[in-house]
Amino acid sequence: MSTNFLVKGWCPNALRPMASGDGLIVRIKPPGGRLGAREASEIAKLASRYGNGVIDISNRANLQVRGVREQSYDGLLSGLMELDLIDANADAEANRNIIVTPFAVTDDLAHTLAEDLSHALAKPNAPRLPGKFGFAIDIEEAPVLRSAPADIRFERASDGSLVCVADGAGTGAIIAPDTAVEAAVALSRWFLDTGGMVDGRGRMAAHIARGTPLPERFTAVPRKPEAAFKPTPGQTEKGWLVGLAFGQMSAQTLAALAQLGPLQLTPWRMVLIVGLHQRPELQDVITDADDPLNRVVACVGAPSCPQAHQPTRSLARMLSAHVPNGSQLHVSGCAKGCAQPTPTPRTLVAGPTGFSLIHHGRAGDDPIGAPVSAEALIANPTRINEAV
Ligand code: SF4
Repeated sequence: MSTNFLVKGWCPNALRPMASGDGLIVRIKPPGGRLGAREASEIAKLASRYGNGVIDISNRANLQVRGVREQSYDGLLSGLMELDLIDANADAEANRNIIVTPFAVTDDLAHTLAEDLSHALAKPNAPRLPGKFGFAIDIEEAPVLRSAPADIRFERASDGSLVCVADGAGTGAIIAPDTAVEAAVALSRWFLDTGGMVDGRGRMAAHIARGTPLPERFTAVPRKPEAAFKPTPGQTEKGWLVGLAFGQMSAQTLAALAQLGPLQLTPWRMVLIVGLHQRPELQDVITDADDPLNRVVACVGAPSCPQAHQPTRSLARMLSAHVPNGSQLHVSGCAKGCAQPTPTPRTLVAGPTGFSLIHHGRAGDDPIGAPVSAEALIANPTRINEAV
């Protein structure tokens, strides 16, 4: 297994931007993942004015404005503050990692819980959690966020009761809506008190996997089986899911999306255009479940990431048509595998001399065979499918 990359262990946010090869990355966490037309179009303007006009959607349903120059950062921050998208202080901003099911699009319980949890996590006496620690509010009839990164989850039990679950555990605690946030905060304190965080890092699933016994209350009910849910671009009951190749769009695309309806960000490199029930006529978005670009995932690669050995997305785009429908190719700029932490049928990992192929594994796993250049892969693209 390769570990030839830097482990940073923290997540950028608007008050703690991260330097990248193309400037600062400023992460915006819209409350509940929702953006009205004005907010979305103003973010698009800010990204063009203060960044390089490129916007990512993260696997936590946040936006990242890329290419922000240091001298432009304060202007961007002021603009985001005017839109009320930034917390009052860095601790609160760092703690507010909450993903809400994209299909709860009205002012219902999911968004009320998200708002109450945000307030609880912003209190001066709130637990100070690891940077990657987060919460998922996944309380529609069947869970859809199980593969999204979160440490404490609100879900439904088989009888419809609300449950609070530690990620990685097979059981949870039944909770009432008015005490749900209290239960989640108590569980996050338990995580800290029982040694879940070391040197500012730690995740719940790993803590549970080490055999740390949960408080008795959190062993009360079995979790519901995972829903057979695979998000794809196209029509849903709540609106049109639009895919973004590699989870990235231009400021112009965000501005165009904003014209079509309120937006709900998802952790699946897609945006839900709430209430839209006809295919949007937009350039540079994926509106179809069969589009080959749905089958490839790639990190930003070179030159935007200083750790990347090669460009990634141009290669992934060229190979996408050779990935069988229903399967996936991950192209990673280094062994860290930021874009896809879980195994995929085929992964290409860049190194100094070319791309190594891994079958049914992660970017850090052992490759098969010697590295191959991007040019050789383009000349013979089906080699990515050999022996998969
Ligand atoms: S996986 Fe990609 S984005 Fe992550 S550190 Fe490596 S090159 Fe950079």
